[in-house]
Amino acid sequence: MSYDFDLVVIGSGPAGQKAAVQGAKAGKKVAIVERDKVLGGACVHRGTIPSKTLRENALRVKNMRANAALANFQLAEDTEMVTLINRLDQVLLAHDQYMRKQIDRNNITRIHGRAKFIDSHTLEIARVRDADYCIKAQNIIIATGSFPRKPDNIAVDHEYIFDSDSVLSMLYLPRSLTVLGGGVIASEYASIFQALGVKVTMIDKYPRPLGFLDQDLTDKFVHAFESMGGTWLGEHNVVSAEFDGLAGVITRCDNGLEIKSEKLLCAAGRIANVKDLAIENAGLSLSDRGLIPVDNNLRTSVANIFAAGDVIGPPSLASTSMEQGRRATCNAIGIIMGRIASTIPSGIYAIPELSAVGLTEQQARDKHGEVIVGKANFEEIARGQISDIQDGMLKLICAPDGKELLGVSIVGEGATELIHIGQMALLSQSPVDIFVESIFNFPTLAEAYRVAALSVIGQREQRGKG
Ligand SMILES: Cc1cc2nc3c(=O)[nH]c(=O)nc-3n(C[C@H](O)[C@H](O)[C@H](O)COP(=O)(O)OP(=O)(O)OC[C@H]3O[C@@H](n4cnc5c(N)ncnc54)[C@H](O)[C@@H]3O)c2cc1C
Repeated sequence: MSYDFDLVVIGSGPAGQKAAVQGAKAGKKVAIVERDKVLGGACVHRGTIPSKTLRENALRVKNMRANAALANFQLAEDTEMVTLINRLDQVLLAHDQYMRKQIDRNNITRIHGRAKFIDSHTLEIARVRDADYCIKAQNIIIATGSFPRKPDNIAVDHEYIFDSDSVLSMLYLPRSLTVLGGGVIASEYASIFQALGVKVTMIDKYPRPLGFLDQDLTDKFVHAFESMGGTWLGEHNVVSAEFDGLAGVITRCDNGLEIKSEKLLCAAGRIANVKDLAIENAGLSLSDRGLIPVDNNLRTSVANIFAAGDVIGPPSLASTSMEQGRRATCNAIGIIMGRIASTIPSGIYAIPELSAVGLTEQQARDKHGEVIVGKANFEEIARGQISDIQDGMLKLICAPDGKELLGVSIVGEGATELIHIGQMALLSQSPVDIFVESIFNFPTLAEAYRVAALSVIGQREQRGKG
């Protein structure tokens, strides 16, 4: 069979983009198909970058309020959302241009259209203005991402009731917002809007948000959120949420509680996007969880088709999607790769930030028994005091020998950057003592590693004596 391309990648998000560039760098004839006019996927246009741009301004607003003695600052009542994401257009334009240049520089063919499988090597490309046509590829990588899950009982209308793809299309900052969900996106947006002065109520069926993190961390998050004026309602089952016909939304729980708010954000998870792909024509089917199943090499059940990014499920992060995309291509074209790192950090850009790598304290206890945990509160670190960082903490989780590092968990501003120090120690299998032997800049938050390590070593010595 003759092919138009060695490799065709469907989707230009973090997974697709890195997959295509890797293929081109290896000398292959590559095409990338994107249905949107712009490149970059949910990450650039609806998810990671827009939410982090809003967060940047929310932090500024929060800090201005905190320094009320220096500046008598009040956010206008009718603040337009566009003013809060004023830098977004510049950021997106810069990103789009950078990606376009990178794709073109690597001689990757850009195809604007919607891809659909005809068979395992053939894709039909539907275009807006021009006629549809088919392309044949030796290998295909599906990197079509995800979209927000819509529960049946929530009437998402994108005017009063939003999902995470539409929330930033709100025209004005609302006075009150109900956030359904306790996951990453819910926690990020709930705390960002609360920092902007919106009265936020966060509701979830679980007792605490971000249940995959150490409770120490989530307790601090909830404390910080409530200190800003937010309300966390755990163990509440929402039975319906609808526009009240006047100017707001009524959310009803099965215990009879009713919450009225101006707007609502439904952040009830995301599901794989295989709409319009007709994967059955290629001999593929979805798993019970609605994802594209892949093996350790990111290969689907059809030998020449690979999948990467959100479409294969958790951890559903831009950072991992990029690496999966790169690896999917390497595996498809026969470049031998080792196993993907198991130490993937999670970064939650709530206010305050949270981040973890390796095992949580509970996971470490379940696996290793009496582990040793060293903690450092940011309030006790000079930099934390100078920057008035409250609700900050770094935890080192070590094996019962008090030497081997098993995990690091951090809450507090800077957590998503600080985590990489711990990640490097884990990857290089350095003993916890490395944090005491290293000289850290002073005053920095990184010094918390040293303080927590000293605590571990102290406990280790006590154990040795016992
Ligand atoms: C609000 C929010 C905040 C987030 N924050 C973070 C964060 O801080 N850090 C982080 O690491 N991750 C974050 N994420 C997750 C991150 O955005 C995703 O993990 C990442 O975008 C997944 O990349 P992807 O390439 O798999 O898919 P996407 O980025 O979703 O890209 C898929 C692309 O495929 C295209 N496509 C789909 N179907 C077709 C078709 N049939 N034909 C052609 N093109 C098609 C789509 O148009 C899209 O451009 C966030 C997500 C959201 C929603």
